[in-house]
Amino acid sequence: MKRYKLFINGEFAEGHSGKFLPVYDPSTESVIAEVPDGDESDVNRAVAAARAAFDSGPWSQSTAQERGRILFRLAERIRKETPQLAELESRNSGKPIVEAEYDLGDAATCFEYYAGMATKVVGHVNPVPDNALSLSLKEPVGVAGQIIPWNYPLLMAAWKLAPAIAAGATCVLKPAEQTPLTVLEFASYLNEAGLPPGVVNIITGLGETTGAPLVRHPDVNKIAFTGSAAVGKAIVKAAADTVKRVTLELGGKSPNIFFADADFEAAIDGALFGVFINQGEVCSAGSRILVEKSIYSKFVEAMAAKAKTIKLGAPLERETKMGPLVSKEQYDRVRSYIDVGKGEAKLASGGSTRPAAFTKGYYVEPTIFYDVDNSARISREEIFGPVATVIPFKDEADAIKIANDSPYGLAAAVWSRDIFRVFRAVKALRAGIVWVNHMQPTYVEAPWGGFKQSGFGRELGPWGIEEYLETKQVHINLNEQPIGWY
Ligand code: ADP
Ligand code: MG
Repeated sequence: MKRYKLFINGEFAEGHSGKFLPVYDPSTESVIAEVPDGDESDVNRAVAAARAAFDSGPWSQSTAQERGRILFRLAERIRKETPQLAELESRNSGKPIVEAEYDLGDAATCFEYYAGMATKVVGHVNPVPDNALSLSLKEPVGVAGQIIPWNYPLLMAAWKLAPAIAAGATCVLKPAEQTPLTVLEFASYLNEAGLPPGVVNIITGLGETTGAPLVRHPDVNKIAFTGSAAVGKAIVKAAADTVKRVTLELGGKSPNIFFADADFEAAIDGALFGVFINQGEVCSAGSRILVEKSIYSKFVEAMAAKAKTIKLGAPLERETKMGPLVSKEQYDRVRSYIDVGKGEAKLASGGSTRPAAFTKGYYVEPTIFYDVDNSARISREEIFGPVATVIPFKDEADAIKIANDSPYGLAAAVWSRDIFRVFRAVKALRAGIVWVNHMQPTYVEAPWGGFKQSGFGRELGPWGIEEYLETKQVHINLNEQPIGWY
């Protein structure tokens, strides 16, 4: 069993407490590794290294071309190590190996994208009405604290590290305590890729003991967080004391809307994919499935029939389409929501946790509830597991009203062949991402983030690097005379 270390100032380092946290394989419920149980003094060491690397040393003098080349090397290394990394990701998170391979491809692509973007960050000349040259310059934000969740471990690290490195910022990244392993393996590539010590530091530990001190730390300039709404709210409050820049990508209860004229087979497939991919442990999961009344019964029946064919299995088996949930905590949480659902709605399929085929592991059957109102708890609260709520609607206005009746606004999807209706829906939906006749495809070139309580700020694309940049105004007087006011 491997015992990992923290990564601080370019070196693997023991944690201050000398204590370790167990890391599990959720399909066997056994411990597969240990990572340091980080504390505030570990956070302080990591922030000091990031601060020093930002304020002085080679990184502060680095050129955009150099940063781009480092990012290209990291992308190449991820591609080279994909078999091992994907296996570790799958084993630790429970996600099917084939999905883990996709995630790693996306992580490498993210490094490549921001490698190219490093040299495309440009300023402006401002047309001020004086004999002066007015410039706006883009400069790195400073030290970024990055706190990520457990559903896409190395991919979420890539979304945060790649734009930060391209911008010339320095980073202290905290992976989720459930899934820190691929990020720690990735840390071992940094020196070889030419990244100076202190530019990227990785600390492991619990949210309260390592995440919270990072958010409070006065030398950290920005916090980028992806995770639960509850923690996101606490982070905004804690960051206020030091007026940190904050970007948040929180949860959702995203509507996936099906009109009667949509291609029926594609619709059923899209409804299942939208909510059950990655065991439903997806912030943009289409967990509220809104279906036009005229096709509602047929839709629920077809969804349930097809859901029963989804192959639950060991994460490392290539035919597996759904693995176990990530942890005991998440398993218990989803189980309790299924109990709540049984009191609020009718069950079309699933509803059983740890199906008979498994003696161990946090497996949950793809579960579909129907005949349920949008005001039910299972329609309002993010479950973050394979649980779908299918809600009927009357007409277009009703569909939009139900879709927008949520505290969240991360994503939405609409399925129809009527382009006028589709465009009206696209405009009316209050969500940061709207898919038409599809749900979930995500591209590094396009912005990602939410409206309302799903957070603020955008990741990916040019928006993603902007969040790691400050804008500096420069005024250069071209008039060699005294101002002449006094
Ligand atoms: P979940 O409840 O699904 O684990 P969280 O939002 O708690 O989702 O976790 C997302 C990330 O936030 C993890 O890395 C976790 O350790 C971290 N975290 C949890 N609590 C805090 C906190 N109070 N301050 C900072 N980070 C936290
Ligand atoms: Mg938590």
